[in-house]
Amino acid sequence: MLNIVIFGAPGSGKGTQSEKLIERYGLQHISTGDLLRSEIKANSELGQLADSYMSKGQLVPDKVVVDMLEALVSKCNKCKGFIFDGFPRTIAQGEALDAMLKKYTVKVDVVLSLKVPDEELITRLLKRGEVSGRSDDNRETIVNRLQVYYDQTAPLKDYYSKQGNLVEIPGQGSIDEIFTHIATAVDRIIN
Ligand code: AMP
Repeated sequence: MLNIVIFGAPGSGKGTQSEKLIERYGLQHISTGDLLRSEIKANSELGQLADSYMSKGQLVPDKVVVDMLEALVSKCNKCKGFIFDGFPRTIAQGEALDAMLKKYTVKVDVVLSLKVPDEELITRLLKRGEVSGRSDDNRETIVNRLQVYYDQTAPLKDYYSKQGNLVEIPGQGSIDEIFTHIATAVDRIIN
């Protein structure tokens, strides 16, 4: 099994690069943001709860996200591995993911950390907002999301660095150029 965490600030290209990872390595993609947005679309109880956080750019509580993820991971018994996109976002989620994978005697094999300067993140997200229809792709919420990223999510870099599986990926350039760095890092692990 190959388990990849694709990590980075909002707008760093996690979703785009995940698509290329799926294509090349045939892994199961889990995007907590996409899952939460489908719950909002379905107007489920979980969706309503999630929306009250997401529309402000805040994180949905750990337990809600961890339970949702656990249900998916436990269902997937023939998977070649996972790409975790947008998860973990807090140290508590990182610890929960480690514990979850340990039950199946597997682990996070690599954390691909996309590095993009703030100004470019803001430009990308504003541009995405023109077409995405996402309620959180507006300037005020984007600024909140970046702050939340630095306060609550970025400390995970240290967490994974201590585990020895963090790889920094330059997140600027063409999609294919960025993916070349990613594929080199992943191939080094598989081979
Ligand atoms: P994303 O699509 O990954 O940018 O996520 C959009 C929003 O969904 C975030 O700003 C959070 O409000 C929420 N979200 C997604 N993933 C998580 C997570 N792992 N933990 C908490 N909230 C999350």
